[in-house]
Amino acid sequence: MVGSMECPLLPDEVMSSTIQYLLIGGYAAAHAATAIRKHDAEGSIVLLTAEDHLPYERPPLSKDLLFEEDFKPEETLAKPQSFYDEQKITVRTGAWVKSIDRAAKTVALENGENLTYENLLLAPGAGVREPKFEGSDYGNVFYLRKLEDSQKIRGAINRGGPAVVIGGSYLGLEIASGCLKKGLDVTVIDSHSGPWSKFASPQLQNWRYDHSLRFRSGGHWFEAEFGAGQRERPRSR
Ligand SMILES: Cc1cc2nc3c(=O)[nH]c(=O)nc-3n(C[C@H](O)[C@H](O)[C@H](O)COP(=O)(O)OP(=O)(O)OC[C@H]3O[C@@H](n4cnc5c(N)ncnc54)[C@H](O)[C@@H]3O)c2cc1C
Repeated sequence: MVGSMECPLLPDEVMSSTIQYLLIGGYAAAHAATAIRKHDAEGSIVLLTAEDHLPYERPPLSKDLLFEEDFKPEETLAKPQSFYDEQKITVRTGAWVKSIDRAAKTVALENGENLTYENLLLAPGAGVREPKFEGSDYGNVFYLRKLEDSQKIRGAINRGGPAVVIGGSYLGLEIASGCLKKGLDVTVIDSHSGPWSKFASPQLQNWRYDHSLRFRSGGHWFEAEFGAGQRERPRSR
């Protein structure tokens, strides 16, 4: 856990009173809380985040955290715990909101707690899309969205061996180029005809030929490439 709160429960005074500003999210919510505090020095601010970490930024997950040996997960944090303490912002990690009653102005947490709010900000971000193909749930197939995902991929990259990256746009190509620099044999698979197909010029797309990157176009390559690789047991879910 990166910078998470030691105490899993909200303070009694928060539980029993109406929260002036209730935020649900991560990085964006942390910055919104900071901005709200600048305008309202006293109002109660509570940030609920489902992950077990204080809000963090994701860009390093496909860059520094994967490829820079000295980069620490703590460096991804939007703010350290001391900042929230100073600003009187209560951050609750591992808090999954399962429903919102807008008429009653309450939210229900998965653990059974209910909170009453005056103002609610929703910044729940996006989720990872898991394509379904044979073997997509195997232990050596990774999805990248969370800190833990990045740490697992980092371990796999450091173990070496051929890498297949599904998705040939920003994140996929970032990871592919980092793997190439580490000397891995890399194949990128995308449903489009070339890398960065939505915006790159043909010249830019040809970058791959200068860097011995194998590019496969079309969904059928998922199974073909994966079938040729070493299989590991499915992950337990
Ligand atoms: C690997 C990676 C690399 C990226 N690199 C770049 C980059 O280089 N440049 C760039 O501009 N963008 C990049 N992005 C995109 C950028 O990180 C996102 O746009 C950004 O994370 C959005 O921030 P957010 O706070 O809106 O959402 P998130 O960071 O997704 O945070 C939302 C949080 O809300 C929580 N949540 C959702 N539902 C609930 C609920 N019901 N109850 C409680 N909590 C809930 C989630 O668990 C999550 O922690 C990257 C994204 C990834 C995944």
